[in-house]
Amino acid sequence: MNKPKIVILGAGYGGIITSKKLEKLLKSGEADVTLINKHDYHYITTQLHKTGIGTAADRQIAMSIPELIDISKTHFLKATVTHVDTDNKEVQLEGGETVNYDYLLIALGFEGQTFGIPGVKENAFELRSFRSSKAIYHHIKKQLNLYKEDQDPSRLTFVVAGGGFTGIELLGELADGLPKLCKEHDVPFEKVKIIGIEAAPSVIPFFPKQSVEYTTEVLRKLNIQLITSTKILGCTADKIILENKIEVPAKTLVWSCGVQGNTIVQKWGLPIEKGKLAVDSYLRVKNTKNVFSIGDCSLFMKDGKTSLAPTAQVALQQAPVCAKNIVASLRGESLTTFEYHHKGSVASIGLSAGVGKVGTVRLSGLIGSFMKLVIEARYLFNLGGPSLILKQHFGVNREQV
Ligand code: FAD
Repeated sequence: MNKPKIVILGAGYGGIITSKKLEKLLKSGEADVTLINKHDYHYITTQLHKTGIGTAADRQIAMSIPELIDISKTHFLKATVTHVDTDNKEVQLEGGETVNYDYLLIALGFEGQTFGIPGVKENAFELRSFRSSKAIYHHIKKQLNLYKEDQDPSRLTFVVAGGGFTGIELLGELADGLPKLCKEHDVPFEKVKIIGIEAAPSVIPFFPKQSVEYTTEVLRKLNIQLITSTKILGCTADKIILENKIEVPAKTLVWSCGVQGNTIVQKWGLPIEKGKLAVDSYLRVKNTKNVFSIGDCSLFMKDGKTSLAPTAQVALQQAPVCAKNIVASLRGESLTTFEYHHKGSVASIGLSAGVGKVGTVRLSGLIGSFMKLVIEARYLFNLGGPSLILKQHFGVNREQV
C-alpha cells in the first residue's frame, strides 16, 4: 500500500514547527512528509529589524532549513508554490513541477499592506522577509556613501511609517545602529534624522497609557522625532507627503503599517474570510477534511467570534495541534480542538529598553528588553535545542560543543 503523503507549504514559524512535531509523532514509515518553501532558509521574523540595520549577523536571523529538520524523515523542497488544486490533490510549483498530497498544510504567512497609498509600493521598503531586511541595510549603506559625494541631507533622513510594535522596534534599532554605521562610513551622526510617523494620536495606541508614555519618552531620549495624528498621503523616492501639505524630504521610508494574509491562497477556490483561509476549530480549512491551514494566511475565530492577530505566537501555538490533527486524520482518530492562550507581547526599543506585557505584568526598561531575548531564545531552543542557541549567537557548531 502507498504511504499517505503529507505536504507542508511554507517553512515559517507555523510550517517548520509542524514538520518538526510530525517527525516526533509519526511512526517510522507511516507517512511521507514534504516541506516546501521558496527559500532554503528559515528566518526569525521577530528580529528582522536587526538585519535591517546590521546590528545582528545574518546567521543569527536566517538558518538553513535542511539543518533544522531531520532530512531522513522530512523531504525538503526549495520551490515557490503557484497553485493548489484540491480536486486533484495537487500542488503546482513555479517551473511546472507538481507534488501530490493526501494531507496538506498551508502555512504561507503574510504580505505587506500598503492600502493603495500612492508611491508606497514602488518607493518604500518593507520589513517583511530576510531578503527585504537586507535590502534596507544595503540601501542605508548606499545613502551614507552617496552623502559623502553630494551632502544631500535627505540621504540622512530615515523615516519609519507606523508606530506599532514593528515600527518602534525599527526606530529603536536605527538609533542604536546608525552611530556605528555612520562611523564606518565617515559620516557625522549628528546630521542624521530619525523620524517616526503614526496616524493615531500616539505610538502603540493599543497599549496602556503608562506603556505609551514610557515608549514615547524612550524614543524622545534617543532623539527620534515622532509625528503622530498624521496620515501619509503618498511618497516618491525623495520625499514623503503628509496631510496638511507637509512634505518630508527623505530617501528612506520603511513602511510598517500592517500586514495581510498571503493573497495567493485567495485564488485556490477554498473558503476565504477577511482575505484569509477560513479554518474550523481543528485548524482544517472549512469544508475540507484533509487541508489544514495555520498562521497568518488563515483565519481562526476564537470563541467563534474574534479573529486572532497575525503573530508568531498564534502560529507557534497552532503548529503542535495541527501536527497532532494531521496524524489523527490519517489514523482515523478523533481530532483536538485548538484553543489559543495569549501569553503577552513584548517589543524591544534598541538594545537596552523594551515594552510590553506578559500575563498581567506590564514590562518596561531593561527587563522588557531582556524578556524579548528570553522569548527568542525559547523559540530557538524549541527549534533546535541548546546547540542552535550556541550556533546562532556565538557561531559555535554542534561538533564543537
Ligand atoms: P511566516 O513565518 O511568514 O512563514 C511563511 C513562509 O512561507 C515563509 O518562509 C515564506 O518564505 C514562505 N512562502 C510564502 N509564499 C510562498 C510561496 N508561494 N511558495 C513557497 N513558500 C512561500 N509576532 C510575534 O508574535 N511577536 C513579535 O515580536 C513579532 N514581531 C514581528 C516583527 C516583524 C518585522 C514582522 C514582519 C512580524 C512580526 N511578528 C511578530 C509576526 C510574525 O512574524 C508572524 O505572525 C509569523 O511569521 C507568522 O508565521 P507563519 O508561519 O504564518 O508565516
